[in-house]
Amino acid sequence: MGSFKALQTSENADGRFETRVLEREIEELPAGEVLIRVRYSSLNYKDALSASGNRGVTRNFPHTPGIDAAGVVAESSVSEFAAGDEVIVTGYDLGMNTAGGFGQYIRVPAAWVIKRPAGLSLRDAMVLGTAGLTAALCVDKLEQAGLEPGDDPVLVTGATGGVGSIAVALLASLGYNVAAVTGKADQADFLTRLGAKQVVERGALQAGLEKPILKEQWAGAVDTVGGEILFNVVKSLRRGASVACCGLTAGTNFQANVLPFILRGVNLLGVDSVEIPLITKASMWDKLSLQWKLPNLDELVHEITLQELPDAIERILAGQQVGRVLVRLD
Ligand code: NDP
Repeated sequence: MGSFKALQTSENADGRFETRVLEREIEELPAGEVLIRVRYSSLNYKDALSASGNRGVTRNFPHTPGIDAAGVVAESSVSEFAAGDEVIVTGYDLGMNTAGGFGQYIRVPAAWVIKRPAGLSLRDAMVLGTAGLTAALCVDKLEQAGLEPGDDPVLVTGATGGVGSIAVALLASLGYNVAAVTGKADQADFLTRLGAKQVVERGALQAGLEKPILKEQWAGAVDTVGGEILFNVVKSLRRGASVACCGLTAGTNFQANVLPFILRGVNLLGVDSVEIPLITKASMWDKLSLQWKLPNLDELVHEITLQELPDAIERILAGQQVGRVLVRLD
C-alpha cells in the first residue's frame, strides 16, 4: 500500500529513548475500520511524555506518538465514513499504544472518529486539539455547576500552556473576568491579548500552603497544573464556587483539607477528555465551531513540521510551551 513519514520513538539498548522521523509502511498500522491521511496534528504534554518513554502513557516501543489527528478518510470499511470525508480523532488510545497523529497515516476504530464540524477547518480543529477540547469541557463543567459571566475573577493556572491559553481565550470570549496564572513573567502581554484582565505570578499561588484556608477570591477556576497550586486554588475559591481539575504539570499529588468544602461549599470537578463518549466529544466540537468559536486562534498557535517536533517536545517537557503547537503533516 505504500510508505509514509512518521515520527518514531524507540528505546536504545542502554534504555534511553530516541525520537526521529522515518518511513513507515501503511501495512504496519494496527487493524481498524478507518484509514486516515492525517493533515494536521498538535503537540500536547502527554505526547511529550510518550515521546520520552513514560510507560504510564505508552507501554511498548518503537511507537509513533500523537494523541490528536485531523485529516481525510483514505479508506473505510464502515458505512458512516467514506473516502474523502474530513475527520477529527482525539484521545482514546490514539498516540498512547496505537500509532498516533505524528504520522501521515493512522488506522483507527470508527468509534473514535468524528466528522469535522462545518464551522471549523481541519487546521483550526488541530489548533484547538485535545487542549481545546479539554478547555471547553472544563468551562462546560463550571457552567453546569453554576458559573456565569460577571465581574468576579475566574482563575486559569498554567495559563500560557496549551489547555491554559485556550481556557483563557474561551472564558474571555464568553465575558468572564479572567485572572491568568503564569510562571512566565515575560508572557503577560500574550495573556492580555488572549483576553486576561489580570496576570498573576505563579509564586502567589504557591504561598500560604501552611494555612488551612485562604481569603475568598475566585468565582471559579480551570486548573491545568495540579500539585500544591491546586491545594491553594481550592482554599481560595469563593463560597459555592468550583474548580475544574484537568492537569498535572505541577504534580499528581495534592494536599487537601475539608474546610473549604464544609465551610464554603466549594466543588472540585474532575475533567477527562480522553475516554468520554464520542457523542460528548462531538457536542463540544460543535460548540467550539459555533457559539464558542474563538476569533483569535492565530494569536496562540505556532506551526511546525514533523522534523521540528523533537525540539518542540523538549520545550514542552521543560514547561516552556507558549500557546499551541500545530504540526503540519505535509
Ligand atoms: P503545556 O505544557 O502546554 O502547559 C502546561 C503549563 O503549566 C505550562 O506552560 C506552564 O504554564 C505550567 N507549568 C509547567 N510546569 C509547571 C510547574 N512545575 N508548576 C506549575 N505550573 C507549571 O501542557 P498542556 O496544556 O498540553 O497540558 C496541561 C496539563 O493538562 C497536562 O498535565 C496534561 O497532561 C493535562 N491534560 C489533561 C487532559 C484531560 O483529559 N484531563 C487533556 C489534556 C491535557 P505557565 O508558565 O503559564 O505557568
